[in-house]
Amino acid sequence: MNIPFIDFSQQYQTVKDKVDTGLKDVFERGAFILGQEEKNFEEAFAKYCGAKYAVGVNSGTDALYLALKSLHVGPGDEVIVPAMTFIATALAVSYTGATPVFADAEEHTFNLDPQSVKAKITSKTKAIMPVHLYGQTATMDQILAIAKEKGIFVVEDSCQGHGALYKGKRAGSLGDAGCFSFYPTKGLGAFGDGGIIVTSNKELADQAKMLRDYGRTDRYAHKFIGYNSRLDTVQAVVLNAKLPYLDEWNQMRIDHAAYYGKLLKGIKGVVIPTVAADRNHVYQTYAVRLTHRDKVLEGLKEKGVGVLIHYPIPVHLQEAYANLKYKKGDFPVTERLADEVLSLPMFPHMTNAQIEYVCESLKNCM
Ligand SMILES: *Cc1c(COP(=O)(O)O)cnc(C)c1O
Repeated sequence: MNIPFIDFSQQYQTVKDKVDTGLKDVFERGAFILGQEEKNFEEAFAKYCGAKYAVGVNSGTDALYLALKSLHVGPGDEVIVPAMTFIATALAVSYTGATPVFADAEEHTFNLDPQSVKAKITSKTKAIMPVHLYGQTATMDQILAIAKEKGIFVVEDSCQGHGALYKGKRAGSLGDAGCFSFYPTKGLGAFGDGGIIVTSNKELADQAKMLRDYGRTDRYAHKFIGYNSRLDTVQAVVLNAKLPYLDEWNQMRIDHAAYYGKLLKGIKGVVIPTVAADRNHVYQTYAVRLTHRDKVLEGLKEKGVGVLIHYPIPVHLQEAYANLKYKKGDFPVTERLADEVLSLPMFPHMTNAQIEYVCESLKNCM
């Protein structure tokens, strides 16, 4: 049996009519950048998140970057980011000229550890960027409390957190700004690159709108040196069609995770994900911890099971950040996770038979 890591073909079937008609309409009108569909999507997504404004941009990385720029983060500033994340979290900080300062992860959620954040605060700290890793929100109350006490910003990297809840509130609406990616494999995926900044701060939203559009205030006037980073109309059509299904698709992922948990519980050497009591987990990624991970990974591949590692090299140990002089041992939890995590196949339209095959294979490989 071959089980793909991700298969969105049935997702497409669900929205096919709406997407095909909407795209044909865009092609016939020949209006491709921003446009009414994009405005509609910004409105719908802001509302979905429980925030006032949304600004569509061309990737999750740009959403993070432009959110930081909108808050005037720049050279001389420090921004605290988890070492346990996709490198784009840190890249966004570097693009502004500020320095990413890494912090360790919590053992139970894999997310940014507030204690580690506290230890990294200096007089230069301008913002904290928690990541809602794999689809479970970070421990936001403690992070927000630290930020409030120090008078610094919180920019959520919600690129894996579409629709996740923290104390009943949506990921992306918890900090000063929430940044999402619509890269095709994310919880809400476009048919190409895309991203969005969500915020209830009007000044921030206005600033981001100018930044994404050459620093423009009107057709011919440019207030500052902006960028070209906009959400395509074509992607907005796809996202408008998919958004109404996001909660349903997340629930399907949650059900799959429960079934995985049931089948994997009790297998020696397998640790299933834990979800903190005050939040949910939408399982954009279903990652288990394994002893002898790399051997098991090879075995699963041989059995036709699509598996990936998110992420084998923590960001503080990436060559790209060698200049910051971190070393192995700086973040023990993150480094242990990097050696042990394995992401199993997860997508809304998975079947129980597929999950059973993955678990049976994993059992045999242990
Ligand atoms: C995907 C991702 C990004 C980057 O998003 P892109 O749209 O690929 O630029 C940033 N942070 C995290 C945590 C991600 O998972």
